[in-house]
Amino acid sequence: MLTVLILQWALDYKFIPIELAPFIATTVIPVLAWIGRKIAQPSLHQIQPFVTVTAGHSNVDPGAVNGKFKEAELATKFRNAVAHYLKEAGIAIKTDGVGSDNQNLNTAIKLIKGSDIAVEFHMNAASNKAAYGIETIALPKDRKLAQDLSKVVATAFGSKLRGDAGWIDQSQSARGKLGFISNGGLIVELGFISNDAELQIFNEKYWLAARDVADILMKKAL
Ligand SMILES: [Zn+2]
Repeated sequence: MLTVLILQWALDYKFIPIELAPFIATTVIPVLAWIGRKIAQPSLHQIQPFVTVTAGHSNVDPGAVNGKFKEAELATKFRNAVAHYLKEAGIAIKTDGVGSDNQNLNTAIKLIKGSDIAVEFHMNAASNKAAYGIETIALPKDRKLAQDLSKVVATAFGSKLRGDAGWIDQSQSARGKLGFISNGGLIVELGFISNDAELQIFNEKYWLAARDVADILMKKAL
């Protein structure tokens, strides 16, 4: 609309010859308007944050096992529950599969790029069956987010925080350098699958913990 007013003004004051008016109206203005729209249009990334949630291990690597329960399957359930709550809140998400699909680590790592936050879910295992607790492994820059994630999971499961108030610095992790974290992601260990009581609480309450994890991710991403 402004361009039309400027054209009218330019014609009134004879800055442009009247013969050019049709050309300007049919060609120059639409082109300028198109350019204006392109400039004003922010990329999808700027409008809407992207959260990646992935499940540890894969369709062919079960991870730790306790009886009939496999870490990869429990992590997949948890991923699906978090994805459900994020979608419900209108957050754009990427996952390493839908339903029971759990793609491998390389696929998960590729999803991190372009994400505002990327989180992968695992469960711990120890030969000491009494070991329990929640921890999130991350780079120092994500310390606060790691602690917040561990805290809501520990609260939902009535468990305890491990490491530095729920945060394990990747450089101090006994697991060495984890590819998912080196590439900017966080790994949440949702309790010990090897601890029968913690495993049972996971199965009973994972939806509750997933809802609170989604809440933390939402607040961080927005
Ligand atoms: Zn694992």
